[in-house]
Amino acid sequence: MSEPHFKRVAMIGIGLINGSLALAMRERGMAGEIVACARQERTRARALELGLCDRAVADPAEAVAGADLVVLGTPPAALAEVAGAMAPGLAPDAIVTDVGSIKTLVVNEVRARLPNPRRFVGGHPVAGTEHSGPDAAFATLFQNRRCILTPVEDTDPDAVARLVALWQAVGAKVDTMSPEHHDRVLAITSHLPHLCAYTIVGTVADLEEHLQSEVFKYAAGGFTDFTRIAASDPTMWRDIFLNNKEAVLEMIGRFMEDLVALQRAIRWGQGDILFDLFTRTREIRRSVIQAGQAYERKPQLKDDEVSPDGEPGTTSL
Ligand code: NAP
Repeated sequence: MSEPHFKRVAMIGIGLINGSLALAMRERGMAGEIVACARQERTRARALELGLCDRAVADPAEAVAGADLVVLGTPPAALAEVAGAMAPGLAPDAIVTDVGSIKTLVVNEVRARLPNPRRFVGGHPVAGTEHSGPDAAFATLFQNRRCILTPVEDTDPDAVARLVALWQAVGAKVDTMSPEHHDRVLAITSHLPHLCAYTIVGTVADLEEHLQSEVFKYAAGGFTDFTRIAASDPTMWRDIFLNNKEAVLEMIGRFMEDLVALQRAIRWGQGDILFDLFTRTREIRRSVIQAGQAYERKPQLKDDEVSPDGEPGTTSL
């Protein structure tokens, strides 16, 4: 069994995900020292105040000096750039991973910038909320959530084993798959649902004023759930759609065909088609709950509260 303990951990980017990982590691004594890196002074100050790290610096190469583990946790489009910036300070045997929501492009671009790409393992904890920044971090974020690691052919098995041990120690269930497979799976389970939410909320935003105020008044009828997802970080989601273009476009194509089929069924009064679909989708909800990926909603939970079982009031990826 690999050791989930590291002498010095560098967190490049210290927002919701890296901040939560830092808290979870500190709680369990899994890191001798945590050094955070962020561009803005107020991010670094807040990370220190909240106890997410022992030191906070602006220069990625300075942050990774002497680190045996480096976790890249900036928005997806900045991951390759920060990998290049930190490379001169990196120890040759340091393990490097990332938490980005897209993998194929990130894995290729980050590996290309590292002195020892065999020690890099792409990662994606499938857990999150629509909040961002250091203040959004909480230690139980990864409990009972999936974390996907995406090693490639020449990735060092020791680096993979140590990261599996790390994510398991902070409560996650770890799967490994290729970066390409990850991107296809996430396009349907995460990216398409977000795109639908952005579209629906966008449609409402364009409604005439008097209709809009009615929507807000009666939002509990389903619209609220979409607004929560559509409040997710604009930078991150722009990066995800632009960088997982092929898989997302394929899923949009399938979705639009199905939407047109439903439109037709409604127009022609084909209730049996609607009923059959809604019965099948109910079954899917049951399967998702059985797979431990959803919880019955707790109505007393506010958006930014966390239940004792570690479930945030809201979850998006
Ligand atoms: P976040 O809360 O916004 O934190 C991002 C951090 O990166 C901040 O510390 C920010 O500080 C720094 N940063 C931003 N732009 C940067 C740049 N151009 N160069 C260097 N540092 C930069 O983001 P997050 O939600 O933790 O997401 C981080 C990563 O996790 C993303 O790749 C995302 O795809 C992935 N992820 C997110 C979720 C989710 O639900 N949010 C779930 C799973 C995975 P400064 O602005 O001060 O530099």
